[in-house]
Amino acid sequence: MSFADIAVPAPFYPSDTVFTYRIPESLEESLSVGSLVKVSFGKRLSWGVVTHIHHAPLKEGIKTKDVDSLILPEPIFSEKRLRFLQSLSAHYVYPIGLVMESAIPTPLRNGSPRTLRYTVPELLPALRIEPSATQLNDEQRTAVKSISQKKGVHLLWGLTGSGKTEVYLKLIEEVLERGEGALVLVPEISLTPLLTERFEKRFPDQVALFHSAQSPKKIREAWFEVWTGQKRIALGARSALFAPLKNPGIVVVDEEHDGSYKQEEGFRYNARDAAIRFAKHFSCTCVLGSATPSAEALALVDSGEASVSVLRKRAVESASLPKLSLIDLRLNLPQEIKIPHVEIKDRFEAPRAPGDFFLSPQLQLAIDETLKAKEQCILFINRRGVGSQKLCRSCGFVHECPNCAVKLTPHSHHLACHYCGYSIIEPDHCPSCSSPHPFLQVGTGTEGVEEALSLHFPSARVLRMDRDTIANKNDLEKTLNAFSSGEADILVGTQMVAKGHDFPKVTLVGILLADMGMNVPDFRANERSLQLLMQVSGRAGRSKSPGRVLVQTFQPEHPVFQHLQAEDPMESYKRFLSEEMIKRKLLNYPPYASLALLRLDGLVEDRVQEASRFVAHTLNRAKAPGLQVLGPTPSPISKLRGRHRRQILIKSQSKEVFEQTLHWLLQGWNKGHCEKKYKTRLLVDVDPVQMM
Ligand SMILES: [Zn+2]
Ligand SMILES: [Zn+2]
Repeated sequence: MSFADIAVPAPFYPSDTVFTYRIPESLEESLSVGSLVKVSFGKRLSWGVVTHIHHAPLKEGIKTKDVDSLILPEPIFSEKRLRFLQSLSAHYVYPIGLVMESAIPTPLRNGSPRTLRYTVPELLPALRIEPSATQLNDEQRTAVKSISQKKGVHLLWGLTGSGKTEVYLKLIEEVLERGEGALVLVPEISLTPLLTERFEKRFPDQVALFHSAQSPKKIREAWFEVWTGQKRIALGARSALFAPLKNPGIVVVDEEHDGSYKQEEGFRYNARDAAIRFAKHFSCTCVLGSATPSAEALALVDSGEASVSVLRKRAVESASLPKLSLIDLRLNLPQEIKIPHVEIKDRFEAPRAPGDFFLSPQLQLAIDETLKAKEQCILFINRRGVGSQKLCRSCGFVHECPNCAVKLTPHSHHLACHYCGYSIIEPDHCPSCSSPHPFLQVGTGTEGVEEALSLHFPSARVLRMDRDTIANKNDLEKTLNAFSSGEADILVGTQMVAKGHDFPKVTLVGILLADMGMNVPDFRANERSLQLLMQVSGRAGRSKSPGRVLVQTFQPEHPVFQHLQAEDPMESYKRFLSEEMIKRKLLNYPPYASLALLRLDGLVEDRVQEASRFVAHTLNRAKAPGLQVLGPTPSPISKLRGRHRRQILIKSQSKEVFEQTLHWLLQGWNKGHCEKKYKTRLLVDVDPVQMM
């Protein structure tokens, strides 16, 4: 008699918990390690994956159920892939069955042999590679050579516009010619239609797209195209990591520093880190590409675990780096605004539009010059709406979201919570003091800037790009096309505009309030701010016309700006990060220590508090050597969607101590039925990105 250990999608700890089933005779031939099966679990039928097969009789008294049926005739995971997933489960302290749930698309998990019928083509289509339109320059050629010579992890550090994509394409060409496949991860596939297009053009009929917005049918199609070897390039956002490539030769992580590689719900993995792990398991090449590499990537280079190739030249010859100047917004505060073409009749009348203040005289002049030269500008502000908040002029009352501990953001016709979507129409009277005064608006957002532009540049054609105007891929493509074909003069947007778009006619980039990301309670705040500012600046001057970038801030002394302004952006960025990394080493933060954020949330505040004290106490009592326990403290956003939130940070130099402690904690929490007892959820976020 044979038995199979099977992982099922259920939250069991230890995280490698599997269940033993008997293999019925009818399945003995066809079942193997990695098979996707149906089993009865609890009161229902569930899918599961075989992790081990054994023939020794079970201990007496142990009863097993039979495996019900096989969903796919061939194993869904190779042994290698299974080990890879198991290593993710151990690292992220997340049950193996739930890790697999992320790795198998829903239409497959819920499928049956009938709905999942597929044919393996007898002859695979001949490989066709279209020649590149451009020749690689010296730097690109050197990068390709050094990366293809050696397996392992490579950082491809290329300034914006230096042609990283061309290097990826060349490397993939080599991989395909060797008969292997390629995995290409991008932060948000819907934001990068041009990149997708370039891949599809170069490798006709070879690119399978993977992203969450696809229909079940499309997902199933893409999955089987890769699974059967008809397509050998899997391109997509983080979930493409789980595309069933048979023989991967390379995994590319474009914009590796991007925070969206981190999954923020359920299985909280980081696709960049997981890709590095993937390359180790499959002994293939991993390329991390960025203009502003993360501290983690640079630490790999420092420790010799990754090599680095550098692209400094802009790919379009004669395109030069944009000239950047800082504008001190404090000087703008009491001043009368002097604009050459706008006559201000009443100097006390200003500001007239909510975004007025953020169009400094210098910026207005620059916009004016750009428009006159028939060139384009991008104005960047990382907030939607018309302002940051509205307060009562008599009593200072500010509308708060009833579900979240955040202020509502004003939009032109309503007030909205950007976390839960709650929105109200602005009342005529203050709900607190009944005063009928109009509310005072503070700060600005994309809508506010749009309004201000219509006052100052009435004939300019303005496009807005944020989550309010872009709901899907079509909206995005429409906006991008409209702007690049010159249907608009000014593009106002949130960080959506920072992603690798290439607009040759843009010669001016204005960053309206650069301070925004710098004052958040997060050890990566400076790193992220500088990365974002560099990305946005990189949108200027990508072709022959020189570009300029105007950066407005209230704190021009901040070190981030000294680095942003430097002559040699690469050297300066490196210096900036090495200073950051010294701080992180001292404070025991990643990449020099393991870090986990334990989030506790529930509907009853007292119970959440009690639970968080219990968890911290348990961790301290464990006396794990070198384990630091910080907290509990209320989370920076102390209430979200009606749930009260507290958090604990744990850090350790030792990966083993760290993992063992977390496994032990979660096992105890589950065994003690603490979720029920405290009416509180405990979420463990290993290598957290979002600290709010
Ligand atoms: Zn009031
Ligand atoms: Zn809310």
